[in-house]
Amino acid sequence: MRRVPSGELPIILQTNMTSSTLIKNAMAILTGGSGNEGDAARLRGPDIRIVGDTIDAIGVLTPQPGETVVDATDCIVYPAWVNTHHHLFQSLLKGDVAGLNASLTPWLAATPYRFRALFDEKRFRLAARIGMIELMRSGCTTVADHNYVYYPGMPFDGSAILFEEAARLGLRFALLRGGATQIRGLEAELPTALRPETLDGYLADMERLATHFHDPSPRGMQRVVMAPTTVLYSISPEEMRATAAFARKLGIRMHSHLSETVGYQDRAQTMHGRTPVEFCGDNDWLGEDVWYAHLVKVDPHEIALLAETRTGVAHCPQSNGRLGSGICPIREMADAGMPISIGVDGAASNEAADMISEVHMTWLAQRARLGMAAQPTYRGGSFEGGADAASVEDVVHWGTAGGAQILGLGEVGRIAPGYSADIAIYRLDDPRYFGLHDSAIGPVASGGRPTLAALFSSGKRVVTEDAIDGVDLRELAHEARAAVKQMLAEV
Ligand SMILES: [Zn+2]
Repeated sequence: MRRVPSGELPIILQTNMTSSTLIKNAMAILTGGSGNEGDAARLRGPDIRIVGDTIDAIGVLTPQPGETVVDATDCIVYPAWVNTHHHLFQSLLKGDVAGLNASLTPWLAATPYRFRALFDEKRFRLAARIGMIELMRSGCTTVADHNYVYYPGMPFDGSAILFEEAARLGLRFALLRGGATQIRGLEAELPTALRPETLDGYLADMERLATHFHDPSPRGMQRVVMAPTTVLYSISPEEMRATAAFARKLGIRMHSHLSETVGYQDRAQTMHGRTPVEFCGDNDWLGEDVWYAHLVKVDPHEIALLAETRTGVAHCPQSNGRLGSGICPIREMADAGMPISIGVDGAASNEAADMISEVHMTWLAQRARLGMAAQPTYRGGSFEGGADAASVEDVVHWGTAGGAQILGLGEVGRIAPGYSADIAIYRLDDPRYFGLHDSAIGPVASGGRPTLAALFSSGKRVVTEDAIDGVDLRELAHEARAAVKQMLAEV
């Protein structure tokens, strides 16, 4: 029996009214446990029972009367991905020619800031929908979007649109509410739609959003996070302390961009005589309720400071590669004890903003990065290459349970009894995956886009054989092409 509160009289639901689904005969299950967790990172299964929105049992299970059975023969099962950093509005800005070969600062001017003022309600909604659907079809059910399209007198409520679109698709959504009270030089000549907010206006909207949308429960389907766009550029040190205090008063988490390029190191040094991470610590922006996107350019002592304060990272390797920023040292960060997660970042700097592409890149880039440090023995080297920098289990852990931890979601990101039933079932039916000795590693090690036989979000089946109910991809493609054409004519 389950009690559901409802006004004066409690309504009693019979448990036999709760839906039950049996995922049967999975070939392999990765649980979301890290490589360090040994056997716990994998389950033989082969069956998983979902009751309501929860994983109920794992093992050799017999179908019960009336139970829906999903045949997972020859399929690989992962926890659904948790994406911890994105800018969904950029889903209509892929491959902009003017910014294609530019590093961060010129790219910001060429692409996101040049087009941002052209986003009306219709385009904003379309972009959000495209980005969410792209993520879903890679097996992602939790999306954290760092939206910074806000300005005084804005004629539409972008925050509400994002929550609506996520709810329509059945996704868990965290709004990382960006904002700026000061503008970078490069934004100064741009349209009024790029005007900064006042601190009071920003905080008032944070309070409104937290009151209307924030669900602090361990599986909350809607979360709100204080996320000034770039703490080093968007707000003053005094405002950093004010936003941190306000977020902690509201009981919400904190997020921003940090140390994406050497430009951050130069600014922190020039303006404050500190490293970027030291500067954030000076202004109350470190802690287990904080995570930063990128952290590509960090010194060893900064990693120690981040680990000591349990500050997390959203690793975005494809965007960091696309903009030529570098590779975040997440192996060193994980070894130091930092919480690690993976984000796709906005599609204006990542033309493959899906989680399979991102975790494939994560797996390879950490190995390549460590390998770059190898030296011949005659120069004092002690190892040949970096192939032990990231196992497939580590990458799955960072992209699932790691992300859930960083978002403060306590029962999300693992395949284990009692956890939210967020489950991706992949069928490896492309020649890319044929001949694998260990099929379980296919989605991460081989990359590509495995057929998504099923995706469950909080126990609800939201994808079946790559298809999403009510979504016509041809129509979506047509709308995207038309919107891009119009924006190019207007910009
Ligand atoms: Zn970003």
